[in-house]
Amino acid sequence: MNLKGKTALVTGSTSGIGLGIALSLARQGANLVLNGFGDHAAVVAQFATFGVSVEHHGADMREPGEIEAMMSFANTRFSGVDVLVNNAGIQHVANVEAFPIERWDAIIAINLSSAFHTSRLALPRMKAHNWGRIINIASSHGLVASAGKSAYVAAKHGIVGLTKALALETATTGVTVNAICPGWVLTPLVQQQIDARAMTERISVEQASRELLAEKQPSLQFTTPQQLGELAVFLCSPAADNVRGAAWAVDGGWTAQ
Ligand code: NAD
Repeated sequence: MNLKGKTALVTGSTSGIGLGIALSLARQGANLVLNGFGDHAAVVAQFATFGVSVEHHGADMREPGEIEAMMSFANTRFSGVDVLVNNAGIQHVANVEAFPIERWDAIIAINLSSAFHTSRLALPRMKAHNWGRIINIASSHGLVASAGKSAYVAAKHGIVGLTKALALETATTGVTVNAICPGWVLTPLVQQQIDARAMTERISVEQASRELLAEKQPSLQFTTPQQLGELAVFLCSPAADNVRGAAWAVDGGWTAQ
């Protein structure tokens, strides 16, 4: 229970990786501010047995004003954020000449700029307390590219860069800033890509899933949200006090190739 009494805010935590990380942090005793769309009451109910306080704020990560309202809510409800996990993200696949402008803007806003806004608002209190953790959920696409994903690759390379810059700005403090770079994790975001592939290639969803893994991820296994949650817990531990500016791949060997 090394996070008892601390407050974690995880953006995009009503689903997938964000939810997995929020559950792992709650198991360590952290109070939670959840964020994201969908049936948040059902999500909050999953935390009932952990003996921690859990709130949801529905700020849209495209909107800086709503992000400010969410951070103020965390300050009022819990007296601030100790662990900030910038996780909210969306995907759109198309070659750049056919990429809808609105999708480009949304991906840059949600997958990159929201982390700038949450970080700039969380850091003053973290620095004042001389303890804090910022964990940015980047991607293999923060380290290498794939065709058809220009906005996502640009945003994820951007968040790896933001991670390094903030790690330097906080290097002599008790605040650390790191990125986790997952390869394929079976969440709704990836299921959509598997379903699209099955439809385009007229193959079964199982076959599409096998092909998706075989193309990029040598382990041929999906990483789980729980595994990423446990890595986030490690990054919050004293053992990780001097892990700074890392872009930690959890990708079954994807970026080792
Ligand atoms: P997901 O679709 O399961 O969950 C995305 C979450 O973000 C949801 O809670 C959703 O409500 C929220 N969200 C979306 N738009 C939002 C907005 N405008 N404002 C607030 N919340 C919003 O996706 P996931 O696979 O769990 O992805 C989470 C993060 O992990 C993303 O940043 C994604 O890029 C990254 N990632 C995922 C994979 C993967 O294989 N699934 C791999 C590498 C990185």
